[in-house]
Amino acid sequence: MRDTLVLNASFEPLSTVTLNRAVVLVLQDKAVVEQSHPDLRVRAAAVDLPVPRVIRLCRFVRVPFRRQAPWSRRGVLVRDQHRCAYCGKRASTVDHVVPRAQGGGDSWLNTVASCAEDNHRKADRTPEQAGMPLLYQPFVPTPADAMLLAMRAGERSELPEWLARAAA
Ligand SMILES: [Zn+2]
Repeated sequence: MRDTLVLNASFEPLSTVTLNRAVVLVLQDKAVVEQSHPDLRVRAAAVDLPVPRVIRLCRFVRVPFRRQAPWSRRGVLVRDQHRCAYCGKRASTVDHVVPRAQGGGDSWLNTVASCAEDNHRKADRTPEQAGMPLLYQPFVPTPADAMLLAMRAGERSELPEWLARAAA
C-alpha cells in the first residue's frame, strides 16, 4: 500500500495515510492535492485522478496527540470519541478493562472510555466477570488515527467498497 503524506493547512507535515484515505479526504473536500505521482492514476467507477503523494488539509487541525503518544485519560476519551465501550452512550470516565485491583495497568490496550454508570457497575471485575462485553477493542492510536480523530473524519476508515478495490 502506497502512503500519502498529509500536511496541515499550515504546511506542517502531520502524518501519512493510506492512498485510500488520502483519496477520500480529497473527494470530501477536506484536503487538496499538493503533489501527485506523474504516471499513476486512481481509476474507479466515479473517480479518475492522479495518485496523490502529498495532500494538504483545507482547514487547520489541532492534533490531540502525536507519534509515540503516551497514555493519558484524555487520550483514551479522544481515541474512543467519548463513546462508552459498554453501552455506546457518552463517556466521561476511563475504565480499566482488567481492573487495577487485578493487576491491570494504565495502557492504551487496557483502557476504554466508559460512562460513569457502567464504570461503577463493572467495578473491580473484567468484562467477562461482569458480563459486560466490549463494543469495540481498544487499540494503540497511531499518528494517523490522531489526525483523523482531530478532523472528525471518523474512525479507522470504512471506505466505500469500490474505492477499496480501486486503490488496492
Ligand atoms: Zn456506558
